[in-house]
Amino acid sequence: MRISAPKETAPGETRVALVPRSATQLVSTGATVAIQAGAGAAAGLTDAAYKEVGAEIVKDATALLADSDIVVVVRRPDTGLVGHLKRGAILVGVLEPAADPAMVRALIDNGITAFRLEAMPRISRAQDMDVLSSMATLAGYHAAVMAAYRLPRIFPLMMTAAGTITPARALVLGAGVAGLQAIATCRRLGAVVEAFDVRPAVRDQVESLGARFVETGVESDTAQDTGGYARELASDAQERQRQVLAEHVRDSDVVISTAQIPNRKAPILVTADMVASMRPGSVIVDLAAPGGGNCELTKADQEVNDHGVVILGPTNLPASIPGQASQLYSHNATRFLTQMLKDGQVHLDFDDEVISQTCITHDGKPVGEQIEALLQGAKA
Ligand code: NAD
Repeated sequence: MRISAPKETAPGETRVALVPRSATQLVSTGATVAIQAGAGAAAGLTDAAYKEVGAEIVKDATALLADSDIVVVVRRPDTGLVGHLKRGAILVGVLEPAADPAMVRALIDNGITAFRLEAMPRISRAQDMDVLSSMATLAGYHAAVMAAYRLPRIFPLMMTAAGTITPARALVLGAGVAGLQAIATCRRLGAVVEAFDVRPAVRDQVESLGARFVETGVESDTAQDTGGYARELASDAQERQRQVLAEHVRDSDVVISTAQIPNRKAPILVTADMVASMRPGSVIVDLAAPGGGNCELTKADQEVNDHGVVILGPTNLPASIPGQASQLYSHNATRFLTQMLKDGQVHLDFDDEVISQTCITHDGKPVGEQIEALLQGAKA
């Protein structure tokens, strides 16, 4: 069994799918591990560090892929690279098939069994395979640090002989994994923090981190689906929510927004009028930028300045912390691999939701209605 990790091909990607520690674990199961030369360089991991734990270093991506039974990536590979995979090989990564039906078609044509880690069920047993949580934790932390760095004032209360400085006010919209980490980090830096989410279940978590939960009157148990995710609000509820949020946004120095709804455009929570009401110098970090953003003015991966308010829409903050992001990602991916490897062989149990919910192609066919519909849509 040969398991490999190529150099990432997505622009700006600095992470690597397998770190040396994971290579050690995989080698101990009897597998051979191969890494493309330089794949870990941007994450501070040298080829020598991989060699030390018994991994092979292969210069050329095509040679590496052609000779691998399992290939682990962080992000969706170029469709061209899929053609170099061995027939019947397994591909594991954050594949986001909806963004690239041509890649899905290539996976089917090449008989690849592909797993998208972003669809991991949110169940206790799969927590250590949950890449969305581990990456969102880092992104939430980094968003708070980014806001603190860009805000032209300090976060904490300071009482000095020269006078008292009042603390900055931060508002966190969406208190899921990233939002809770942003709250905790803003609090540690000394800001006064408010937070809001449509799921009332998070109120206790917000308060236990020392933040105030903003009541908008729209939060309700029906705002959450059985998987723990938020549902889209009706348009009148969205409007009511925005009316209440307006005054909290106006009074905040920092807004960190993280509100997302799976497979939907992100809800607009901060309108252009709300931005105009903020004090010049205020900062918005919009982590929902990949889904269109929670702020009406967000532009993905660009800095917008409106009425003196800086709006940042980073789409890949974990890539700013590549060493630790790779460490966590690699741990998640390796746990996923080791639960399907038994006696050095791959055993796929499609009755296990960890396998059935993440698999998108198998045996030259699409897996699941969503992928079938995607391919039908791409044909139409
Ligand atoms: P997410 O990234 O999909 O969304 C972020 C937050 O935005 C969520 O808390 C959501 O409720 C909120 N949101 C959506 N629409 C909103 C709106 N209009 N206004 C305000 N907030 C809005 O979510 P996530 O961080 O990935 O977590 C989703 C859920 O899954 C949470 O309940 C989390 O605790 C749970 N979870 C469970 C596990 C597990 O058990 N293995 C692991 C991770 C997360």
